[in-house]
Amino acid sequence: MRLKNKVALITGGNSGIGLATAKVFVAEGAKVIITGRNPETLAAAKKALGSDVLALKIDLTDVPAAAKVFAEAASDVGKFDIVFANAGIGGATPLGQTSLEQFEKIISTNLTSVFFTVQSALPHLNDGASVILNGSVHAVLGAPGWSAYAATKGAVRSMTRNLASELAPRGIRVNQVTPGGTRTPIWSPYAQTEDAMTALEEKLGNMSALGRMSEADEISKAALYLACDDSSNVTGIEITVDGGMTSAPSGAKIFRAA
Ligand code: NDP
Repeated sequence: MRLKNKVALITGGNSGIGLATAKVFVAEGAKVIITGRNPETLAAAKKALGSDVLALKIDLTDVPAAAKVFAEAASDVGKFDIVFANAGIGGATPLGQTSLEQFEKIISTNLTSVFFTVQSALPHLNDGASVILNGSVHAVLGAPGWSAYAATKGAVRSMTRNLASELAPRGIRVNQVTPGGTRTPIWSPYAQTEDAMTALEEKLGNMSALGRMSEADEISKAALYLACDDSSNVTGIEITVDGGMTSAPSGAKIFRAA
């Protein structure tokens, strides 16, 4: 077991990539704390993960409330060895059609809250801990209509490196997982029927060399590597799980489709 007795905080652990990672961390022996906003999916996740998992309802954009909940969790379960700052939202912000409120919601959730997740967890982090941020291929894709989301993920990519430097004196490692399109509920607003989801999967799959979306479980395995001692001298990096979408774009399936 690679995470035996380690305490792991996973934001957004009630859905998608966070939930898949919570499953892997529990299976590897960690004591897991998950957070989310939706009480129903939080309860379902706790049921699926086992009664030892602590499931906490927090809106991470409420920074003081989140700091209080993290302190209580650390005092209940123990100081954290792993923090996966994973929670985030999608959302297009096309030029000419985006309100200030829509833009700022994406920035506050995907960027500001990520910084404050780390800052609020810091007093409760053991020396030698592993912090993992969740980025996105959007940091480098240049997809039209996704400026705010891409900007947050570009900023997270920079912040991974800043925080890696800043926390190195305590032996705390900071790394990032960078998913390409991954089958999770984040896509629900764009694919409300099975046919729409199939079309979306085909579109996103066509953009990568390996020709399909990622599964949440495939991202969780990258997070596991960064969380455990296998990566004990690794900091400031990102592991991209995108089927070659960003590293081998000329090999995208669309170019070889019949
Ligand atoms: P999901 O929608 O399945 O999960 C998102 C999680 O974030 C949910 O648990 C949600 O909680 C939580 N969350 C969102 N906003 C807040 C908030 N204000 N306060 C607290 N929790 C919040 O999506 P994914 O699993 O796909 O997304 C996880 C991360 O992966 C995100 O950062 C996303 O940007 C990133 N990512 C995803 C990709 C994909 O294709 N799926 C690709 C690249 C990156 P609740 O449901 O309770 O609101």
